[in-house]
Amino acid sequence: MPSPDKRVLGLYRPGSVHTVGDGFHVRNLFPSNEVGERLSPFLLLDYAGPTLYAPTDEPRGVGEHPHRGFETVTLVYQGRVAHRDSAGNAGVIGPGDVQWMTAAAGVVHEEKHEREFARRGGTLQMVQLWVNLPRREKLGAPRYQEIHAEAIPVVASRGAKLRVIAGEHGGANGPARTSSPLELFDLRLEAGAEWSAALPRGHTAAVVVLSGKASVNGSRPLAEAEMALLDLEGDGVRVSAEVETIALLLGGQPLGEPVVAHGPFVMSTDQEIHQAIRDYQSGRMGHLG
Ligand code: MN
Repeated sequence: MPSPDKRVLGLYRPGSVHTVGDGFHVRNLFPSNEVGERLSPFLLLDYAGPTLYAPTDEPRGVGEHPHRGFETVTLVYQGRVAHRDSAGNAGVIGPGDVQWMTAAAGVVHEEKHEREFARRGGTLQMVQLWVNLPRREKLGAPRYQEIHAEAIPVVASRGAKLRVIAGEHGGANGPARTSSPLELFDLRLEAGAEWSAALPRGHTAAVVVLSGKASVNGSRPLAEAEMALLDLEGDGVRVSAEVETIALLLGGQPLGEPVVAHGPFVMSTDQEIHQAIRDYQSGRMGHLG
């Protein structure tokens, strides 16, 4: 039996605009819009750029800082970004690539423009998502997945191309290994094209338009850096593009656990936050070599 489309709960413009370190001019879609639990397990989405950077020999970015209790997921659309962490992982991602970093018990890392990209200068466009971990995995070992564009399956339909980064769509399974059931789809639509799908029942969902103009489940058209938040109920999601559009679809099974966030630490209680601060200060999350 066909089930109803998900209802649109709200449309959001970026809630805050700021610079992370000296290399990422970001527009925050949440948590500054206070969508909170309605998007669990997702905690944060920063949309960086597109910003043109002048050539420099000193790569811009954000230096050594810690994380505990969640995952940072970085998607690059233009430019190249380099990562290095205290768990010994390092890598560079470029257009179409995704870095899925599971901080879990804690890492210290730096995120910079890749040296050669910085030296030549150019446009950087990327998204960073923070994905919460189930409580039982918050103090597990850190992990690092570098997912290159070639490894991401593409599902094409009339005028639409969807890259399945995580979750399942049209028989394709995303390569990202996740700690709870979730969907992360990179959606590209030609002008006038429409894409629709059913998400697993009971999943939170949002569609973020990165460029172009598109409506979601009959909403008014969303412009660049606007987001539609959808209801848990129902399962249908439909994106209709007025012009050529790039959008990101997020879906996930809510964790249903308490969230206590403090800067780069996301735990379940105040006590666990205090412990995270102590562990970082005493060097237990490691250092960059
Ligand atoms: Mn970070």
